[in-house]
Amino acid sequence: MRIDLHAHSNASDGTDSPAELVRNAVVAGLDVVALTDHDTTAGWAEAAEALHGTALTLVPGAELSCRVEGISMHMLAYLFDPEEPAFARERELVRTDRVRRAQAIVERCRALGAPVTWEQVERIAGRGAVGRPHIASALVEAGVVADVDAAFTKDWLANGGRADVPKRETDPAEAIALVRGAGGVAVFAHPGASKRGRTVSEATIADLAAAGLTGLEIDHMDHDEETRARLRGLAAELGLLATGSSDYHGSRKAVSLGANTTDPAVYEALVGLATGAKPITG
Ligand code: AMP
Ligand code: ZN
Ligand code: FE
Ligand code: FE
Repeated sequence: MRIDLHAHSNASDGTDSPAELVRNAVVAGLDVVALTDHDTTAGWAEAAEALHGTALTLVPGAELSCRVEGISMHMLAYLFDPEEPAFARERELVRTDRVRRAQAIVERCRALGAPVTWEQVERIAGRGAVGRPHIASALVEAGVVADVDAAFTKDWLANGGRADVPKRETDPAEAIALVRGAGGVAVFAHPGASKRGRTVSEATIADLAAAGLTGLEIDHMDHDEETRARLRGLAAELGLLATGSSDYHGSRKAVSLGANTTDPAVYEALVGLATGAKPITG
């Protein structure tokens, strides 16, 4: 069983449509893929439709934008009821604020001399929940930076960079309560991704475990071996499940589907804890 529990479509900042993501997951030899777009479930229906005639299982999910200790962080949510109103409302508030914030970032970029426009970013984002990777693609198009990664420096879009503007982000304990209130399970995404900035303290992760967190995403491209070993110890200590996943973004990131995977027993445990939605098959 090859299980990848973190992938983005063009419902947020990936480049594959949800149907293309499903086809690519089959080609990559995956048995299970989770669709975890930023702050939206808009891709679920198309991805589910594309399963017909395949042996792939889809785990419906989302990656929530959170903030604690002044640090932006991501919370993966799986198998929740997308209609549950309190959680649906919070995702909508975050998505709406993404538009305001992306417009403000475009203005900052322009003030810094980058010839990008909001119309261009809107075209690149299409129907997707707009984010910094779309603006990064606009900066590449405009010839300001060589590639998307080069846009994530302090000169431009990195956390605390010259053109970075914060967005609404949910307190993670509140996010966990919302996810669980909608019958889902919550996994802290790439908790040791230090190249993105400061990471959340172990004391706070312990607080989140007490608040109902289910797992830590440990096998992730942004974690080196030492970080993985430390996080595995922390997960064992706190009784948290350890997951692995690619964080695939199509052509916007170099990583391939299935680059990291989750143990089948861990996957079964996550599914067993969720009551809001079931894994979807074709
Ligand atoms: P946003 O949701 O608009 O705040 O943008 C966050 C997204 O930008 C993340 O999900 C990553 O895909 C991407 N990102 C953040 N930091 C970096 C980085 N240092 N290099 C490349 N991509 C990054
Ligand atoms: Zn992303
Ligand atoms: Fe993330
Ligand atoms: Fe992600």
